[in-house]
Amino acid sequence: MEHNISGRTQLYCLIGSPIGHSGSPAIYNYSFDRAGIDAVYLAFDVPLDKLEEGIAAIKAFHVKGFNVTMPDKTAVMKYLDEITPAAERIGACNTVKVTDEGKLIGYNTDGIGFTDNLRAHGVKLQGKKAVLLGTGGAATAICVQAAMEGISKIVIFNRMDEFYENGRQIVKRLTDSELNCSVSICDIEDDRVFSEAVRESDILINATKVGMKPMDGISLVDPSLLRPDLVVADTIYNPLETRLMSDAKAAGCRTVVGGTGMLLRQGAAAFKLFTGQEMPWRELQEQFF
Ligand code: NAD
Repeated sequence: MEHNISGRTQLYCLIGSPIGHSGSPAIYNYSFDRAGIDAVYLAFDVPLDKLEEGIAAIKAFHVKGFNVTMPDKTAVMKYLDEITPAAERIGACNTVKVTDEGKLIGYNTDGIGFTDNLRAHGVKLQGKKAVLLGTGGAATAICVQAAMEGISKIVIFNRMDEFYENGRQIVKRLTDSELNCSVSICDIEDDRVFSEAVRESDILINATKVGMKPMDGISLVDPSLLRPDLVVADTIYNPLETRLMSDAKAAGCRTVVGGTGMLLRQGAAAFKLFTGQEMPWRELQEQFF
């Protein structure tokens, strides 16, 4: 595909640090070309101590929209003019749209990417109960989005590490909100509470790093807890099939969902915000995964 860059070509970008490994430039540039949009997407290494200058540059260069990755996802919020309620509750923005008037509007599409992907697998969240493993960035986005979409109960499990306090904060924020969802957090080491929660749940979600390279081949869930009517969803996309997913398939789970769909759909949600058009994510799945 040939793209003739001109004086009118619009700029979109990713900011964060490090960004060298990011697949976003390839995915967005492919999508712009397929949609016939005269734009390019670049990745800029912007560590926290350069964020203010980075945002000033984005404004000066009339960047039309940008994605934000670690470590800037929370810090970026103080430079934005508006933040959606979901992003506010999550406490992080991964997508910023720049309006024609130059206003910066912050969104978080990680949670929507996850729930859209579940919907595509025929899973409805309304009134359901879930066990969520993890209290980091991905888990927070999923927890907030699922609560906003009407899930009735989420029991979060995490080890007692530096992320546990974040989990307590999510519980507090959602419990204090007007959302009608029961959220609690427990120590993952408590086998009895964990087994009981999985038994009572419709959906089991892994949003920890366990199962991702170099922890591939490991799962936090004993296979004996997996049953055919339990929906098992992993956020990990490298490897494409985690140990949890293969254990779930072996246990006969009818719905086993991997992390690539979430990745593509959070990108598709951002692309739609940026351009108003659909990202060709089916094609992207074939081309890039
Ligand atoms: P994070 O660093 O914010 O959180 C990491 C989480 O993993 C914490 O809850 C931490 O306690 C837990 N953890 C780490 N090592 C552990 C161990 N040895 N035992 C038990 N728990 C452990 O990371 P994040 O950005 O939230 O990412 C979490 C996972 O979600 C990663 O696997 C990442 O690949 C995936 N993710 C996927 C997408 C997607 O689009 N599919 C997007 C974001 C993140």
